[in-house]
Amino acid sequence: MLAAVFKGNGVLSVEEVPMPEIKNDTDVLIKVRAASICGSDLHILKVPPAQYGAPGTIMGHEFYGEVAEIGSGVTQFEVGDYVVVDNILKCHTCIDCKTGHDNLCQNAKIYGQTLDGGFAQYSVIPEAQLFHMPKEVPSYYAAQTEPLSCVMNGMSKIPATPDKKVLVYGAGPIGLIYTRVLKLYGIKHLAVAEMAPLRREYAEKCGAEFTVDPSKEDLKQVLQERWGGGCDIAIDAVGVGSIFGEAVELLNGGGTMLIVGQNANAVSNVKPATIVRNELTVKGMYCAHNTFPTAIKLLQNEELGLEKFVTNKVELKDILAGIEALRKQEACRVIVYPNGIC
Ligand SMILES: [Zn+2]
Ligand SMILES: [Zn+2]
Repeated sequence: MLAAVFKGNGVLSVEEVPMPEIKNDTDVLIKVRAASICGSDLHILKVPPAQYGAPGTIMGHEFYGEVAEIGSGVTQFEVGDYVVVDNILKCHTCIDCKTGHDNLCQNAKIYGQTLDGGFAQYSVIPEAQLFHMPKEVPSYYAAQTEPLSCVMNGMSKIPATPDKKVLVYGAGPIGLIYTRVLKLYGIKHLAVAEMAPLRREYAEKCGAEFTVDPSKEDLKQVLQERWGGGCDIAIDAVGVGSIFGEAVELLNGGGTMLIVGQNANAVSNVKPATIVRNELTVKGMYCAHNTFPTAIKLLQNEELGLEKFVTNKVELKDILAGIEALRKQEACRVIVYPNGIC
């Protein structure tokens, strides 16, 4: 079968590899319908890497597909079902797993990073990692379940009531999913800071009240003019260290900062006194298993509008072109189709 294999040192190779096989009786063989390319994938492909990926691994952690074969012990799924994958395989024995934070498992293995993932025609995943996906959900929605699930986990950590003024940093895929979900939550005052012109355009299409190019405009001044103050919630969906320090200075008293962008090399200069003086709350968020069902329900709501920023649909053989378009910020969301566009 065809797969995109991480070779280390920034190299992703599209090549023929052996078909994966069911090894355990709870394994499920999935014919991948669609996958999306994540900012984390770009981080893994940086030199030096900004996120770890094990060389030799098939990449792709946001994917769904059709059950092609099941192990003898599989009870919840049948051949022909559509399924979406929770990409974090937990150890169930570490302190975080034992104390209700298994999404933060210290020994987690991740499909698409340390275990073979979904940039392939087929993938073998244990039943416990799968959720049913209704067949009527469009492929370019279903492929985005995992990031939407992460966003819903983030939403649970911020007081996103309709009266709040929210600033989102970054109009990449995650920033734009936040933008759409915040709109569904009834947030009217929603600004997006983004340097790439194309992405600002999509942020506006997704319902941002206004966008700002932080390389050209003074964010503090713009917010003051528009909102008569700062923001109540700032979401960093970029992962450049400097944003943390900048954003806390823009928050109103009692405000909340949510850090989403994950970049192992990022460091920041934050004034702790600002956090004290303004009683700010700083939160991080990671992916979570328990928000998948919420995400799957939300995907059945057409108002979600995730199609608004799907800019590219590519076959697996053309994945490198899709990655390049994301790198140059000439694309917002790239969906990859390993078995033909569907
Ligand atoms: Zn991701
Ligand atoms: Zn664990």
